[in-house]
Amino acid sequence: MKAEIIAVGTELLLGDILNTNAQYLSKQLSALGIEMYYQSVVGDNSARLKEMLKEAFSRSDLVITSGGLGPTEDDLTKETGCEYFGKKLVEDKKALEMLKEFFSRLNREMTENNYKQALVPEGSIVLYNENGTAPGIMIDDGGKILVMFPGPPKELIPMFEKYVRPYLASKQEYTFVSRVLRVSKLGESMTEHLLRDLIDSQTNPTIATYVKNIEVVVRITAKAKSESEANKLIDPVASKVYERLGNNVYAEGETTISEVVCRMLMEKKITVAVSESCTGGLLSAAFTDIPGISEVFAEGAVTYSNEAKMRRLGVKSETLEKYGAVSAQTAAEMAEGIAKTAGTDIGLSTTGIAGPGGGTEEKPVGLVYIGLCVKGRTVTKELHFTGNREKIRVRTVDAVFDALRRELENMEQNS
Ligand code: AMP
Ligand code: MG
Repeated sequence: MKAEIIAVGTELLLGDILNTNAQYLSKQLSALGIEMYYQSVVGDNSARLKEMLKEAFSRSDLVITSGGLGPTEDDLTKETGCEYFGKKLVEDKKALEMLKEFFSRLNREMTENNYKQALVPEGSIVLYNENGTAPGIMIDDGGKILVMFPGPPKELIPMFEKYVRPYLASKQEYTFVSRVLRVSKLGESMTEHLLRDLIDSQTNPTIATYVKNIEVVVRITAKAKSESEANKLIDPVASKVYERLGNNVYAEGETTISEVVCRMLMEKKITVAVSESCTGGLLSAAFTDIPGISEVFAEGAVTYSNEAKMRRLGVKSETLEKYGAVSAQTAAEMAEGIAKTAGTDIGLSTTGIAGPGGGTEEKPVGLVYIGLCVKGRTVTKELHFTGNREKIRVRTVDAVFDALRRELENMEQNS
């Protein structure tokens, strides 16, 4: 099935709002194995929308619109779609009831123009709106399908899930299942290099690598008649990917490295405290983003100056003088200092040059040291990052979590 999306709304054309509906719908359709060929945006103008519908249906079987279903003058998507298919508008009893209920629940009077929202094209499938007023509409005219959604994402998404996805899935002979493996540390080119022959030789499932935020993701996608069949195709290929990438794969599915590590800490009740220089609190924030982390996360100290590193963490002045604040030695003493003073199993530290100024030939921008003091044993890592200040700081946080993940995995193996 070939599909396209038409987002309706002058505010989209003017750049006032972002077309997130197109992103959401594209993602959902491709997961269903529906081919997405075009996306367009048109203002609140009936003639231009009608032109677009004509063009869209000349090349696609499924056209999805979003926006322009409301009660006001400029909401004309439904009328235009109706006209395109030569259908009459008729009142839908349930839609009218739901509208009345909606207004009485809010204790608001239902104005005359609101009644038009209960009108639907005859013979259409009504997508009842549980989160707003305008119902969505689906017209299936002998294989040409028009789906019209209201604009607000909080109304569109539940409607898609409840009515449209099952309907479209039932029309698809094949289902597409994707499994996502999240990779830390290797970088995209290295990941691809390690998987090159697999990527080239696989057709079903296919393997693709891409970068999301700052991590690499390997996506394995299979096409099959059922989900279980697709998973059977994916399993052996996923095993091969694991063989190649080893423990650089830190998780499957929708998650983050901080989530994975925090879960490990909480499960084992291992306590942690952090001392930060170049990340300035970002690492603590990443910990405290995780619900329930208070069980194990004791404290985060932002020790930016040398004086603070000495006073709060007991970093020795000789260390700072001899090696500098950005050094493996300082990172080690920071990690040890915070673990000791906070009384935790683990102490973590960051110190580096995030730029744009402050770099020297010997210690360039992007040079970062991290320290991990794990139950009295300290390791440090020297890292070299590229990118701006923000990227360097965010990458540092990820690197700390990944280093900690590897330490925790080793601990598990040795226990
Ligand atoms: P409408 O149904 O055209 O009256 O749109 C109502 C509201 O839905 C707009 O003011 C936006 O906040 C939101 N909206 C409309 N179209 C989109 C879109 N394509 N992506 C995200 N939000 C949208
Ligand atoms: Mg609008």
